[in-house]
Amino acid sequence: MKSSKNENLKNFKASEIYNKIQHLALVEKSNPLIIFDLDSTLFDVAPRLEKVLTDIAFEPVMMEKFPSVVPHFKNIRTERRDWGFIEVLHRAGVEHDNLDLFKTVRQFWIEKFFSNEYIHYDVPYQGSVDFVRKIEKLNIPIVYLTGRDVKRMERGSREVLLKWDFPLDDKMSRLVLKPERSMDDALFKRDWIHDHMINFQSPVFLFENEPVNINLIAKELPQVELVFFDSTHSRKETPPEEVFTLVHYLMED
Ligand SMILES: [Mg+2]
Repeated sequence: MKSSKNENLKNFKASEIYNKIQHLALVEKSNPLIIFDLDSTLFDVAPRLEKVLTDIAFEPVMMEKFPSVVPHFKNIRTERRDWGFIEVLHRAGVEHDNLDLFKTVRQFWIEKFFSNEYIHYDVPYQGSVDFVRKIEKLNIPIVYLTGRDVKRMERGSREVLLKWDFPLDDKMSRLVLKPERSMDDALFKRDWIHDHMINFQSPVFLFENEPVNINLIAKELPQVELVFFDSTHSRKETPPEEVFTLVHYLMED
């Protein structure tokens, strides 16, 4: 089941994971639940980050306080591995050791990045829509379990999932967000999955990019089948070595 470090089987193909899920559903009839994280798991948030930072340069207070820095914002280009804005600004030549600048950018970044409006700039990773649709066709329940919170991001999250044609019918495919933004992402996800597993004795798959979340669930809910989506993460922890690892969702290679 789990890959062996010695056999160098760390990276899996989407088709292998899909076949496993299909087998559980159709042959073993074990009624699995498939859980997907959103940010940096189904959706590449780099375009959102780029738009947020580009727009911050147009905030009047930026030009008033940091006139020599603002022109560098036009050089901003985000990449798949970017996390937060510090490295992005650094690459663009923005001097961010200035604490006042950092605090000002951070305040705007929080307002914009975690908003119903800016998540419209997210783009699904290659093959992700088709992959989730294929799982839907197996008549398997799907949950999007995200650290986004209801107040700031529920409306936009629904809009963006539907815009890109991800299944979301509130029956077999549901969106679950944090009720409060202050909640810890990993604990929220662990508790939600734990509560589900108490009520349903069925296999659970979690597709997730954040090692902090994966490591907590691997430790406390070892029955969960974890799929590490290798895009970007907070770098607070390293991903476990012996879980399925995906870099895209394309089925054909
Ligand atoms: Mg994520």
